[in-house]
Amino acid sequence: MEKLFKHVKDVILENKFKYILGILLLIVVDGLQMITPLVIGAFTDSLTSGMLTTQGIYKYMLYILVIAIGVALGRFGWRMSIITVAKKLEYELRNKVFKHLEKMSRNYYNHHRTGDLMAHCTNDISQIRMAFGGGTVMIIDSLFMIIVTLLLMIFKINFKLTIIALLPLPIITIFVLFMTKLMRKRFKEVQEAFSALSEIVQESFSGIRVIKSFVQEKLELEKFNKINQNDFDKNMNLVKIKAFAFPLVTLVTMISMVISLIYGGILVIDGVITIGKLVAFLGFVGMLTWPMMALGFVFHRLQQGRVSLERINVILNTKPEIIDSSLLSDIDDANDILLEIKNLNFKYPNTNELVLKNINMKIKTGENIAIIGKTGSGKTTLLNLLLRFYNIDSEKIYFNGKDIVNLSIGNIREKIGYVPQDNFLFSKTIEQNLMFSDEKIPFDKIVEAAKISKINSEIDSFELGYKTMLGEKGVNMSGGQKQRVSIARALVKSPDLIILDDSLSAVDTKTEEVILSHLENELKDKTSIVISHRISTIKNSDYIYVLDNGKIIEEGNHNELLENRKLYFDLYQKQLLEEKIMGGQSGK
Ligand code: ADP
Repeated sequence: MEKLFKHVKDVILENKFKYILGILLLIVVDGLQMITPLVIGAFTDSLTSGMLTTQGIYKYMLYILVIAIGVALGRFGWRMSIITVAKKLEYELRNKVFKHLEKMSRNYYNHHRTGDLMAHCTNDISQIRMAFGGGTVMIIDSLFMIIVTLLLMIFKINFKLTIIALLPLPIITIFVLFMTKLMRKRFKEVQEAFSALSEIVQESFSGIRVIKSFVQEKLELEKFNKINQNDFDKNMNLVKIKAFAFPLVTLVTMISMVISLIYGGILVIDGVITIGKLVAFLGFVGMLTWPMMALGFVFHRLQQGRVSLERINVILNTKPEIIDSSLLSDIDDANDILLEIKNLNFKYPNTNELVLKNINMKIKTGENIAIIGKTGSGKTTLLNLLLRFYNIDSEKIYFNGKDIVNLSIGNIREKIGYVPQDNFLFSKTIEQNLMFSDEKIPFDKIVEAAKISKINSEIDSFELGYKTMLGEKGVNMSGGQKQRVSIARALVKSPDLIILDDSLSAVDTKTEEVILSHLENELKDKTSIVISHRISTIKNSDYIYVLDNGKIIEEGNHNELLENRKLYFDLYQKQLLEEKIMGGQSGK
């Protein structure tokens, strides 16, 4: 139990007085509600006995009015306390989970689907809120109401009448219990059907060009109709249970009422109870319907809350894989050698094959380095390790002469301007994307970075310039444009080391040359690592490493590598030929 509530304990304890106050108010409201039938019963009795004066009528009216105001205030009070605490819990828990997930490693995200994590952040946390809010209310409310009403009916009215009249009511609880289970199953099917529907709509519209060019509209429509029909059927299944449920509950209550009227009527005729008591009794029967239903609902709600809480606990109990070492060194000492890699081997977690084998590199401050190799040769993996996205052994990679394992992860990443292969840009304005590393960066600096990456004039040509929205609600940039914005975003940081991971693959060779020459100027006293599979991108680098199957098989500058006449030479020949063919085709 202690473990189950580990992550919600603090918020609950912090708000315990509010929560307890809410529960007390709830009980007061229930109590007041239960007095009402008794008051109406007493009123009926005085009325039938002919003893009631006009003043008496006013008195009863006043009682009922006071009770009604008390119930209204009490209801407001318990809602404001219990529901507020539950919402606060949801808010705090969501922050906690998000903060925790931000600390998780790349490896964690490789093994967890984004959709699942989103479901945890939304559904599960809402379920927990509902268990602590509505769930608590329902269980206290229903148990208190049922027990006290029963006691009042037995002791204030008649024992035998209570037992006989209430016999059918447990059917409601049992029915609701089963119905909720079935409803949950059908509701899940409805949700799945809806997801499928959204998916096909989204995919059809984003792929509309392909659909049209292959003249597949009719087939797509047929597919859509089928999925739409399924959505309709699943919704109808749910509607059927609901349509059946409410009349059934009313029917059972009515049966109880009828029994009360028959047997209660006999008791009144025999003079065992008064008419007023019978009226009060009927009021009580009506009041029991809701708690009987709630008892059925609450079981599932608490169960669901528990399952969700367990799932959230799994996330919060998973320790981040990559954390700062306890012996942090200072990163800032300048060093001639910016980066040194010594006999580095690496395999991804949960795999057996070495992806990097005995890598050795020495990169001086101010050098422009390139790494070239076929797809899958390990280039991106090497960068992932420099950025500490995966754990490595100590004494393998040194930054400014310090073992990176002992440097603050945040500090290293701040010093590196990384332009990833996938060029992810946020659905915000271009300016906001460029200011991502620091919101206070002066605008001039952004423009300067955009000029170096040769994207400035294109941004200016948009109607809203730097305020242009990107993504679905705005401009969809071309691959090459995205790459250049991504480079500018990294430059804005003024990093010590800039890393371009195949970041120029989507721009033509001419633009590439311009960007690279700008970069060379900009990066004169900075260090850069450019990764590419295209020799034209890297031929002017100070030093080039050729990676193949996780190993460095050649190194040197462009001319030295050509003289080697090995893989680099072969790649060069192949790419020259390709360029010739492409050039010929385009008529150049
Ligand atoms: P490159 O950047 O040169 O194309 P990568 O570094 O992406 O190559 O990949 C090197 C090897 O590592 C490939 O065989 C790839 O399948 C493997 N690899 C990449 N990422 C992972 C991962 N997260 N888990 C397991 N293996 C991976």
